[in-house]
Amino acid sequence: AAAFKNGEVEYGDIFIGADGGNSKVRENIFGLVNYTPVKVKEVVGISRNPQNAQLYAHKFSKFQKTTNGLAFGFIPTSENELVWFMQFDASISDPANCTPKELRAFCKKLLKKFPSVVSEIIETNDFESTYIWNTRDFDTLPTFHKDNIVLIGDAAHLALPFTSAGTSNAILDAKTLADSLESSNNYNQAFQKYYNLRSEEITSHVNLGRALQKKFLEPKALNGMDIPIPLISTKSQPILEPVEAPVADPSKKPIQVLYFTDPICSTCWIIQPILRKLKLEYGHYLNFEYKMGGLLPNWEDYKKGGINNPADAADHWEKVNISHEMPLDGDIWHEDPLSSSYPPSIAFKAAQMQDATKAMLFLRRIQEMLFLEKKNIIKWDFIKDAASEVGLDTEKLLADFQSNAQNNFTDDLIISGQLGVNSFPTFFFSDGENHIKIKGYQEYEQFEEIIFKLLPEAKKEKINTSPKKLFTHYNSMTVKEFALLSNRPKENAVQVLNSLFDKGVLKKYESKNGVIWKNNFSNYFDMQSSFNKQTNTIATDTAGFAGIECNILKTTNRNESNCAEEVEFKQPLNIPKTEIQEAHSPNKENQNLENEYLNLTALCQSYGEELSKQLSVLFEKEHIKLLFPIQFRPKPWNSIIEKISQGWLANHSSIMGLDDLAGLRIIVMFEKDAERIAELIKENFNIKDSNTTKGEDNNMFGYT
Ligand SMILES: Cc1cc2nc3c(=O)[nH]c(=O)nc-3n(C[C@H](O)[C@H](O)[C@H](O)COP(=O)(O)OP(=O)(O)OC[C@H]3O[C@@H](n4cnc5c(N)ncnc54)[C@H](O)[C@@H]3O)c2cc1C
Repeated sequence: AAAFKNGEVEYGDIFIGADGGNSKVRENIFGLVNYTPVKVKEVVGISRNPQNAQLYAHKFSKFQKTTNGLAFGFIPTSENELVWFMQFDASISDPANCTPKELRAFCKKLLKKFPSVVSEIIETNDFESTYIWNTRDFDTLPTFHKDNIVLIGDAAHLALPFTSAGTSNAILDAKTLADSLESSNNYNQAFQKYYNLRSEEITSHVNLGRALQKKFLEPKALNGMDIPIPLISTKSQPILEPVEAPVADPSKKPIQVLYFTDPICSTCWIIQPILRKLKLEYGHYLNFEYKMGGLLPNWEDYKKGGINNPADAADHWEKVNISHEMPLDGDIWHEDPLSSSYPPSIAFKAAQMQDATKAMLFLRRIQEMLFLEKKNIIKWDFIKDAASEVGLDTEKLLADFQSNAQNNFTDDLIISGQLGVNSFPTFFFSDGENHIKIKGYQEYEQFEEIIFKLLPEAKKEKINTSPKKLFTHYNSMTVKEFALLSNRPKENAVQVLNSLFDKGVLKKYESKNGVIWKNNFSNYFDMQSSFNKQTNTIATDTAGFAGIECNILKTTNRNESNCAEEVEFKQPLNIPKTEIQEAHSPNKENQNLENEYLNLTALCQSYGEELSKQLSVLFEKEHIKLLFPIQFRPKPWNSIIEKISQGWLANHSSIMGLDDLAGLRIIVMFEKDAERIAELIKENFNIKDSNTTKGEDNNMFGYT
């Protein structure tokens, strides 16, 4: 239980410390942290100044002295007001403990030589409510939790203000923690997962803040372009780019993999499903370094593997398509043949100069363009499109493409020559002492064998095979990739993908020889997550209000102390029984259940909508006031899986065996209405069973 100073006691499974930079929760579980000394202070105020608020509307403006650490920034927050800050080197002057009048004089003095808008803002500022911020940070903690207490936001970590990322990081923490709790078996595992996912980025922000502070305090070495500006990052110099090595240095992974490839290499394309699986299962041991091998300098002297000209390439691709079931369309070699693979290879090197991860995404995207969409990826327009799709700065890409990327590409060719690489893909796996070379198309087991040779204790990560998770890892997948990663037979993979497409959670691109499926889950799940966020907020903010939560349930006789009223589905549901009866292995059973779930959710959704409508009419008649519109959602698939794994579904027969397939949430304005709603439901619906629990006091939520 958490006991508060005002005498309130709250009960829960976990305690989340989100109490900001001076966190008492942190102090209680970890003691005092080592704050870095305050080198920069910030005066922050709100100035009522309609003229400048309108003149500078929608702009963030910052002025910085180039001789010492002093800056002034402001941003209009309405038509009448601006928020402003003055950052200054605390070693030069310090206004600690001064009165509002003295603080005004201090600011005016420091900002005397700044542009006139600055003094205008200072003039109209209310110094009674102006705040002095002692900026400081501390090294990333070795953990964010102890027992069942976990920290998020500024309570967990602090970076210096130059990164302007405190709010985003707090939000990301909350989301990551929620996701980790949802996908883990216990809170310990969830907390560890949350830390693993967040700590690296947090450390890079702490380091970035320190580097930017250094620049701020020693501005003489800078030219105008280098001045750190919070909130705004120029594309060519992303502000969140880590300036020091992140904690988990990928080069410290036990196995280094040199991967020689080429954007137009068909074998490199068909091996993608295997590489993707390898990265999911063993990625924690492997650090891939991509090298370009220069497969096709030009067609003049090209003679490799029976291919002498574009027409040969076309035939070869069609054959590869049939034998490996990865879509490739050879027609491009007839319609718009590429004259060389060097330009897209150099573009990849240019992409690497910006961001290694984005470069991999870029390579994947140009492969899809080439193999499925028949796009000649020598052309800048396509390169540019692919680059901007994966978030690369296209202007910088072009500049690098024309300069240093060519040198980097030449370096790759030299290394490839030195290592005797003459076909693609070629991999060199190395643990520092032993090196194993493997080339051409290879089965998954071959790669596993190499990993175990180099690292006998290696253990594979279990892949979360839910389509949503897989499409989060890999934004687009072919059927073969999805089937392999989700461990399904191809036919079943096609069925699931089609059904997800019908639901709108996937998009697809159909080529002559196959389809590529693309993630559209984010749009779909936005609805669900906003639902969750809303209800969570309600749960914590409704002291004084009463609410009831009513689950729409399938018939059941199981008595569960906190189960809701059970309303029978009035519409018969067609469940494909035969498929379920055929199932034997748990995996297959889950697949069948998932198909059943997908079939059922649309019906469930319309049932929920109809029920919500009918209830709204009843409430209106009774003058019952709701705090929020009625909310409805089917239980997410991952929660169902969890229930199944906990034995809630006997014999894996049908998800209709679950009694809380969908939920309906009604938040009423006045507590008295909760009981009336329960009566209304009983009077107007066919209730199979009823069971009510109430919270310990009247302000708490109960289930009806
Ligand atoms: C002047 C200033 C300017 C900033 N500018 C930016 C910016 O431009 N961009 C940006 O991204 N970030 C900025 N930040 C940082 C940003 O505000 C924080 O990183 C962010 O608010 C952290 O969110 P949080 O929820 O972790 O903590 P907070 O927002 O600090 O919330 C903690 C909450 O816990 C409450 N609390 C504390 N102790 C207790 C207790 N014992 N019991 C009950 N409640 C308690 C507090 O009252 C507070 O409401 C700025 C910070 C400051 C101070």
